[in-house]
Amino acid sequence: MKYVSTRGSAPKLSFEEAMLTGLARDGGLYVPQRVAERRHDEIEALPGMSYEEVAYWVIKPFVGESFGDAELRDIISRAYAGFGHAARAPLVQLGPNHFLLELFHGPTLAFKDFAMQLIGQMFQTALARRGERICIVGATSGDTGSAAIEAFRGLDNVDVFILFPDGRVSDVQRRQMTTPTEANVHALAIDGTFDDAQARLKDMFNHFEFRDAVKLAGVNSINWARVLAQVVYYFTAAASLGGPLRPVSFTVPTGNFGDIFAGYIARKMGLPIEKLVIATNQNDILHRTLETGAYTTSQVVPSLSPSMDIQVSSNFERVLFDAYGRDGSTVADQMADLARGGFTISQGAIDYLRAQFTSGRASEEETLATIREIFETTGEVLCPHTAVGVKVASAHLGTTPMITLATAHPAKFPDAVKQACGQDAPLPPRMADLFERPERMTHVPNDLAALEALIRQRVGA
Ligand SMILES: *Cc1c(COP(=O)(O)O)cnc(C)c1O
Repeated sequence: MKYVSTRGSAPKLSFEEAMLTGLARDGGLYVPQRVAERRHDEIEALPGMSYEEVAYWVIKPFVGESFGDAELRDIISRAYAGFGHAARAPLVQLGPNHFLLELFHGPTLAFKDFAMQLIGQMFQTALARRGERICIVGATSGDTGSAAIEAFRGLDNVDVFILFPDGRVSDVQRRQMTTPTEANVHALAIDGTFDDAQARLKDMFNHFEFRDAVKLAGVNSINWARVLAQVVYYFTAAASLGGPLRPVSFTVPTGNFGDIFAGYIARKMGLPIEKLVIATNQNDILHRTLETGAYTTSQVVPSLSPSMDIQVSSNFERVLFDAYGRDGSTVADQMADLARGGFTISQGAIDYLRAQFTSGRASEEETLATIREIFETTGEVLCPHTAVGVKVASAHLGTTPMITLATAHPAKFPDAVKQACGQDAPLPPRMADLFERPERMTHVPNDLAALEALIRQRVGA
């Protein structure tokens, strides 16, 4: 299988090349040239399989020749061995026909572990075979960074640099990034917002001389391998509730559009998904875009759900590419307009998007009220991101099972939980000493040259 750029002019790559590259050289994102629909009887055979078996079935056709069969099975098995639940992604019931898909049983207690643990193993396998060393640089609004560090810490062939917005991630998130002691881990606190961190990351990728000198690689949610890993739990969840014989719906707390895009891919592969609901917090660019047809950025307003405090949702470009009939030059033009503040989506493209997605937003008050209400009625403690999802999902409940993705463990956001229901959300025992471990981080200005100099110096390039 080959991968093409959403902006149409970068070279086609294999799975392994696209994974190691991250952002395409024309500024676009890699997507499979074609997503094949799977046979219905194969989907019908999924109930009862282990998470790892379903993962193999989902992932194998996308990797082509990049990994052998036994190699891929091994990668998947190592990726999920450290999870704290046998089902990996268990479902719990919230109310009539409303289910929570708990995606927080991985090592950093957020859904990003599903993708990051897998690509950590994939990178290690590919780089060891090639005898190469690379430099992973990521930008995070909180959870990606800790998941990346957890996945790459101590690996021989990788340095990992994570940019996070100084003061805008939770204490637990920050400590998960600043307490690992391995020399290949570099936590960088940047002045500014997540969008600033993400913009500097894109600048580094577009500066080819630097990119080649340090052998830059990306593991942000723009990395196709991450999206692919997330497709798996849409299948396991649907299979648990009677799919594909009956359709299910999903509500996804959304920031960078990676997680919900994985659901869109699952649907393209033939999983009967009735609704895919985008849930946003007060930073509601995606909700506004679907309503108005105009994608216009504004200021990020910090919220209780910081991992969704985003105005530019990178992965949205992938679905735009499909919405424009896979015309990369139109996508490239629209992204150029985005850099100037926004663009209007064509009628045909917005019709496509509205047929694929529904959307809703939850205010700060609604987020807190939802945490409180769900705690009082079910005893479940939600993280604020999940609460945004549950609130938005509540407008779409009916005869089709609704599955809301629980994207993080509540202990990652103790302040919001305490404020909502007066309850502490304790860390699981394996992380109980997080607040005693010493922290190690470097403060950096929101400045490309300074960042590049620091990274060059650390890796000796
Ligand atoms: C990253 C994250 C999200 C948003 O996911 P996207 O793939 O960026 O849309 C939501 N909730 C939590 C807890 C996250 O860490």
